[in-house]
Amino acid sequence: MPGEQPIFANMVKLNTNENPYPPSPKVEAAMRQLCDNMERFRLYPDFKAEPLTAVLAKCYGLENDQVFVGVGSDDVLSVAFLTFFHSDRPVLFPDITYSFYDVWAQVYEIPYKCPMLDENFRIRKEDYYQKNGGIVIANPNAPTSIAEGIDFIEDILEHNQESVVIVDEAYVDFGGESALPLLKKYENLLIVQTFSKSRAMAGMRIGYAMGSPTLIRAMNDVKYSINSYTMNYPSLSVGVAAVEDDAYFRECCEKVIRTRTWARMELERLKFTCLDSAANFLFVTHPFVPAAKIFAALKERGIFVRYFNKPRIDNYLRITIGTKEQMERLMEALLEIVPVAEKKEGV
Ligand SMILES: *Cc1c(COP(=O)(O)O)cnc(C)c1O
Repeated sequence: MPGEQPIFANMVKLNTNENPYPPSPKVEAAMRQLCDNMERFRLYPDFKAEPLTAVLAKCYGLENDQVFVGVGSDDVLSVAFLTFFHSDRPVLFPDITYSFYDVWAQVYEIPYKCPMLDENFRIRKEDYYQKNGGIVIANPNAPTSIAEGIDFIEDILEHNQESVVIVDEAYVDFGGESALPLLKKYENLLIVQTFSKSRAMAGMRIGYAMGSPTLIRAMNDVKYSINSYTMNYPSLSVGVAAVEDDAYFRECCEKVIRTRTWARMELERLKFTCLDSAANFLFVTHPFVPAAKIFAALKERGIFVRYFNKPRIDNYLRITIGTKEQMERLMEALLEIVPVAEKKEGV
């Protein structure tokens, strides 16, 4: 189940990894232009999703036939599962990762296997040296926030040239390293990104995949057999505007990263342990107070974070990085909830 979407005055919503900042002003301008041109809504949108695919291709130094766009990366990933995973061998993804992968595998009746992350929540690349029907790696991983470098991804690709390797880079813009340079070398690599987090447009539902023309063509063939017009005209228009405002995009990402550094310091002062984050959230645990208890106490105070009642991570909280003000409210609340470390060791 996705995170809850409560809406009321004064709440602090840090539970679904949305961007705390609005989309680019250029997106707003594009939206106003749409309103001045309602006549266009009579017509079907471009089924090839141009000009958005073209703008993304240009942005990432690719050809137009190397980009696929969909209704959020959930749609893109779901089409990719449907297109590429039909072997008798299991698709591999970590036991702790984005919670939709096993859902799609089950819906599409794809066999899958989930190698365990190690005790530090790191992916063991050797687990992916076995025969498989495909691989999915979220990098940075969710909900751990941990990123692996491009060499790590390349090692997995070197060992897997027969199956499609999907790298889900939903959080890459917050400090991860993209596998993009590897597209030149590996025809079986599919990189998936989204406008929902770093481009502050979760509500517009835009995601995209980048890969070899062969992979992209195969995904389009599947898409055209289900619904050719997935991308509505407004999404295509404002999506272009968002990509074109690179300066705003970078500035927002940097603000989130700065706030993340500050929030981590504050949480550590309250004795939380935070995993190394390259994402717009922190994955944290407290040595004395159970995560479920902190989750409930925060909720009572109108502050929403994410708690997963799942083996191995049921004493962790995933906290989205909000604005500095939101994070200050979080810290004030936590100060009431967790015992403050007055007795400093050795003092
Ligand atoms: C948020 C997220 C997605 C899906 O995002 P969309 O809003 O559908 O684009 C996919 N993968 C991961 C790892 C995510 O965190």
